Amino acid sequence: MGFTEAFALQVPTPPLERDGSLQAILDGGALKREDAIRFLSSSGDQARLLWSAAAMLRDSGKGGIVSYSRKVFIPLTNLCRDSCGYCTFKKDPWENDALTMSPEQVIAVAEAGRKMHCTEALFTLGERPEQRYAEARDALRKLGFSTTLEYVRYASEMVIKKTGLLPHANPGTMTKKEMASLRDVNASMGLMLENVSDRLCRREDRTSTRRVNIRSSASPQSRMLAS
Ligand code: SF4
Repeated sequence: MGFTEAFALQVPTPPLERDGSLQAILDGGALKREDAIRFLSSSGDQARLLWSAAAMLRDSGKGGIVSYSRKVFIPLTNLCRDSCGYCTFKKDPWENDALTMSPEQVIAVAEAGRKMHCTEALFTLGERPEQRYAEARDALRKLGFSTTLEYVRYASEMVIKKTGLLPHANPGTMTKKEMASLRDVNASMGLMLENVSDRLCRREDRTSTRRVNIRSSASPQSRMLAS
């Protein structure tokens, strides 16, 4: 029994006819902006109506099929200029497991993923470590780059050419121009959005406002992946 069915047994869903907009959407109509805004703040019976309609649309479009994108993780570098308190990924350059992958290591991991039938190369990495660590700048210089984002672009292109996998980069916050510079070599891009509460983010050295600004200037695909 799925969540929707289990939930429906406990809390009866009101008849869908009670919401003309939802009924119209189920009948093939388009979602209107004002309805989307209204749905965002729905609760109680209205929320149950919405979930019920969403489940019907999902079942009619996908049936019982659950799809996913099989991906291989490529931790391009675990150095990062930031120090988020909860992070277990970031390492300092003097730690034993600090790593900036070489192009050969990137291809070896991507190729192993391809052999395991992955279709996506997920680049996980710290944010602009060259702005904080001389070691990161040195590593990039030896590879022929001045920024981590330049290396992300190179690695993405290389993975496409050599393995056919589709890159998905998560390089942290980026300007619109930087996102555009990766666009032709990434099927999608992502950004982990932990919180948008200024109150809860007060002790962090970067504000939620900054992350939201980045998000609002991302491509539609990137915005979906960041959510
Ligand atoms: S920005 Fe990401 S990688 Fe860097 S410390 Fe924060 S969570 Fe970790």
